[in-house]
Amino acid sequence: MSLLVIGSVAFDALETPFGKTDKIIGGAATYISLAASYSTRPVNLVAVVGDDFPQADILTLEEHGVDTTGLQIKPGEKSFFWSGKYSQDLNSRETITTELNVLGSFDPVIPTSYLDCKYLMLGNLAPQVQRLVIQRLVNRPKLIVLDTMNFWMDSAAADLLHVVEMIDVLSINDEEARQLSGEYSLVKAARKILTLGPKFLIIKKGEHGALLFHKNKVFFCPALPLEEVFDPTGAGDTFAGGFIGHIAATDDCSFENLKRAVVRGSAMASFCVEKFGPERLLNLTDEEIEAREAQFAELVRVVPAAVVA
Ligand code: AMP
Repeated sequence: MSLLVIGSVAFDALETPFGKTDKIIGGAATYISLAASYSTRPVNLVAVVGDDFPQADILTLEEHGVDTTGLQIKPGEKSFFWSGKYSQDLNSRETITTELNVLGSFDPVIPTSYLDCKYLMLGNLAPQVQRLVIQRLVNRPKLIVLDTMNFWMDSAAADLLHVVEMIDVLSINDEEARQLSGEYSLVKAARKILTLGPKFLIIKKGEHGALLFHKNKVFFCPALPLEEVFDPTGAGDTFAGGFIGHIAATDDCSFENLKRAVVRGSAMASFCVEKFGPERLLNLTDEEIEAREAQFAELVRVVPAAVVA
């Protein structure tokens, strides 16, 4: 089923306790598209880069079933650049630099062939741009998922609340849920956020898994305990890509299926963190992904004790 993804396509520079990278390919829409491509193709991408963005990386996206008709390349301008540094335990990170560059004036033009999309993934980007995309579609998609971050809560709170009213699923991390709601308890935070518009709320908790809230129901999926985590960058976006990819592939928006999508997203994110940047997402096989999903099921499976008469 047709999937439209919007978000940043970027250069990132990363520093973790295991090493440092110079500018490598990154961006929310990059991780989302690659992760979703293992469930559904094509992934229709709307994004913007400068003419400093390597053609080879655009080709890599295309080789993964990403339609780049909607990727604008701005002559003489620079791509979005973000750099971040992780703490020793990788649980927190500090943004060192956010250079919006081409993102600062991004006008999301949606190619005619994308207009009638059924599933819309609004990746991390200025909330006013996310809203424009919804307004420019011919029909309202069956499901709209939005991911955002504290940067936009700090700099564009009113715009963010405006677009959050228009969506079905909000995906944020625990810190952001607390900031958005003003509540420390995640259960109270979820209750408040679900009154802002979305029917479903995902709260990502890094190595502690993810929660899915809907009405008075809650589902929890742990993160896979991994021996080695190199770089958590993009894990949240990869989660979102796996999540929406599964829903688009199955065309089922029930709570039960959203639970499966959370497991899929968690499995994809567990691959992402094993290498720097999106590298690990470039060469996965269906067998590897299925085996990972089975590990998640096994992680929480409990065989009931035999009833003693
Ligand atoms: P995550 O680790 O899932 O939160 O996502 C990291 C990705 O988000 C990086 O590849 C960055 O390029 C991208 N990113 C960071 N800050 C922003 C921002 N303010 N707007 C859009 N994308 C961003």
